[in-house]
Amino acid sequence: MPTFPFSAIVGQDEMRQALLIAAVDPSVGGVLVFGDRGTGKSTAIRALAALLPPMTATVGCPYNCDPASPAGSCPHCAAGGPRKSHKKPVPVVDLPLGATEDRVVGTLDLERALGAGVKAFEPGLLARANRGFLYIDEVNLLEDHLVDLLLDVAASGVNTVEREGLSLRHPARFVLVGSGNPEEGELRPQLLDRFGLACEVATPTDIPTRVAVVRARDAYERDPQGFCAAHAKAEAATAKRIEAARKRLPAVTVPDDALEQAARLCLALGTDGLRGELTLMRTARALAALDGAPSVTTDHLRRIAPAALRHRLRRNPLDESGSTARVDRALAEVFG
Ligand SMILES: [Zn+2]
Repeated sequence: MPTFPFSAIVGQDEMRQALLIAAVDPSVGGVLVFGDRGTGKSTAIRALAALLPPMTATVGCPYNCDPASPAGSCPHCAAGGPRKSHKKPVPVVDLPLGATEDRVVGTLDLERALGAGVKAFEPGLLARANRGFLYIDEVNLLEDHLVDLLLDVAASGVNTVEREGLSLRHPARFVLVGSGNPEEGELRPQLLDRFGLACEVATPTDIPTRVAVVRARDAYERDPQGFCAAHAKAEAATAKRIEAARKRLPAVTVPDDALEQAARLCLALGTDGLRGELTLMRTARALAALDGAPSVTTDHLRRIAPAALRHRLRRNPLDESGSTARVDRALAEVFG
C-alpha cells in the first residue's frame, strides 16, 4: 500500500509546519509531538519522508553515505576509492521502547575487532537513520539515558561507540521525531529544552474537519493508488517547495530588529538560557525560506514562536494557564 500523501493530511497545521521546517533545516533539532493517540503522528512523518526526493547513497554502505560529500563519510567509504551509488528513499527508522543501547548505537565485537578492524562493528538503528528520520513513539516513556544519548548524537551528527579502548565513529545525522502523551509520563525539562520544536495535536472537535478527516481516510483505504494519484500534483508541489527552500536557506537574512524581538519574547516568557532565541531564529529562517521570503519578518516569528518556545517555559505556580496561552500572551505583549 502506498504511503498516505502528506498533502492529504487534514488539519494538524502546526505539526505539518514543524515537520516541513525540520526537512528544510535538520539542524533546528528534533520535533516533539504531544497529543492523543490516533492523531496521525506516525502517518505524517512517513508521508513527509515519502515525498522527499530519493537520496543518492553509496552502494553497500550501511550508513547511507553521500558519495558527493566524502568529508562526512563513514570509515568504510572514506578508506575506499570511487564507489557505485544508487538512489534510495529517505529512511524513517522506528525506535521501539524496549530497544537496548547496543541495538540503538550498534555493537563492537571486541574479539573480531582486534584482528579485523572496523568490520567487527554491527551497525545499529542510528546507522540506518542517517540522513533520514528517527521516530520514537511515546518518547516520554523511553529511558532517560537513551534519550540523552539520542539528543547528543542528533546534535553532533556523529555516533561514537567505545568499548575498552576501541572506538568507532560514524555519521548519524537525522531528524529526531518523538511523540507522546504528557499524561503518561513527563519528559525532564532539560531534555524538553533540547528538542527544537514542540507541537500539540488533538483530535479535531469541529464537525467539518472531522468529516473531512474521515472522508480522506476512507477514500485512501478503499483505493490507495487512486487516492495517491489524485494527490500526486500537490505532493510534487510540496516536494518542490522543500527543495527550493533548502537552496534558498543559506541566503535568508535575519535582521537585527527580528533578533531583538526574539530576545524580548524570550525575556517576557522567562525562558532559560539562549536556546529559545537560537531556535526561534533558525526555525523562523527556515519558515521564511519555505515562504520564498528573502528575510525573517515579525510574521515568521509570530507563526513559529508557539512551537519553538512552549516547551521551554518554567513552571509558574501563580500562573495556571497552559504554555500555549502564555506564549500567545507574550506575543501580544511584544508585537502588539
Ligand atoms: Zn559510508
